[in-house]
Amino acid sequence: MKKELMEILCCPTCKSDLELKIEKEEKNEIIEGKLICKKCGEYRIEEGIPNLLPKE
Ligand SMILES: [Zn+2]
Repeated sequence: MKKELMEILCCPTCKSDLELKIEKEEKNEIIEGKLICKKCGEYRIEEGIPNLLPKE
């Protein structure tokens, strides 16, 4: 995913802002990492795709 996407992403559960932790990036793309919601937990970014499914 592009870093710019962070500006429009929010937690799918509570709509809070997400904190980004990059583990692997190429050019302007985040390949692996985490999106962290302080209330709900972490969402993984794998192979460039953020897994932003609401938690049960
Ligand atoms: Zn949340």
